[in-house]
Amino acid sequence: MLIRNIDYASKQLNKIRNRISAAVQSASREESEVTLIGAAKKQSAGLCDEFCRAGLRAIGENFLQEGVARQQAMTQQDIQWHYIGRIQSNKTRPIAQHFDWVHSVDRLKIAQRFSAQNEGQELQLLIQLNVDDETTKAGVELSKAAELCAQIAELNEVQLRGFMVIPQPQSEFSEQRKPFALAREALEQANQRYGLNLDSLSMGMSNDLEAAIAEGSTMLRIGTDLFGPRITDE
Ligand SMILES: *Cc1c(COP(=O)(O)O)cnc(C)c1O
Repeated sequence: MLIRNIDYASKQLNKIRNRISAAVQSASREESEVTLIGAAKKQSAGLCDEFCRAGLRAIGENFLQEGVARQQAMTQQDIQWHYIGRIQSNKTRPIAQHFDWVHSVDRLKIAQRFSAQNEGQELQLLIQLNVDDETTKAGVELSKAAELCAQIAELNEVQLRGFMVIPQPQSEFSEQRKPFALAREALEQANQRYGLNLDSLSMGMSNDLEAAIAEGSTMLRIGTDLFGPRITDE
C-alpha cells in the first residue's frame, strides 16, 4: 500500500510541476499562465489536505456532497474551489455557495440560475465544449459555442471566462493536440465575433497535459498523476 503523507504530496507536486515547466518551456509560454487544479474525486479528504499543506492551491470537484465534505475537512485556507462535474439544475444554489469557479456550464438555463442565485463574489464560469461530436454527449457543440458565450456574458453576478474540454483519450501527441486546438480557436472566434475578453481554457489531464499546454491551456485538471490512484481504483 502507498503511504500518502506530506512527503508523498510534496514529491508528487514536484513531479507534476516539473512536467508543467518542461511543457511550458517548449511552448515558449510562462509558468504563471497555467494553474494546476487537483482533480480530487474519490480521493480522501485527508490526502487533499496534505497536498494543500504541500502547496497545492486549487481543487476540482465532480460531486457537490463529496466536495463539501472535503472543504469541511480542510485545515488550509485560501484554496480556490472549482466545480468540474455534471451540473443538476436543482444544485446550482449550493454549487454557487461552495465554489469559486464552475467549469461545466452546458446550457443558458444553468448560467441564468447561477446569475440569479449567486450571493457572494462573482462566480467564474466556463462553458464545457463538446469537441468530439457524436462520441460524447456532454458539452456544447462547437457551432453553438460563440452565441452561448455572448448570452452568458451579459448576465450579472457571474463572469464568463472561457471553455473547458474533456476530449476522448488519445495516445499520440499530435492527436491529443487537435481537440485542444479546436477549443483555442473557438475562444478566439467568440472573442472576435462578440467583442468578449475570454481568457481561460480548462484543458489537460494526467495523460495529455503537455498537449494541452502546447495549445494554450490556462488550467490543468490533474487527478491520478498528482494524488495517485483513486480510492476505488486501488
Ligand atoms: C477525473 C477528472 C479529471 C482528472 O483526470 P486524471 O486522468 O485522473 O488526471 C479531470 N477533469 C475531470 C472533469 C475529471 O472528471
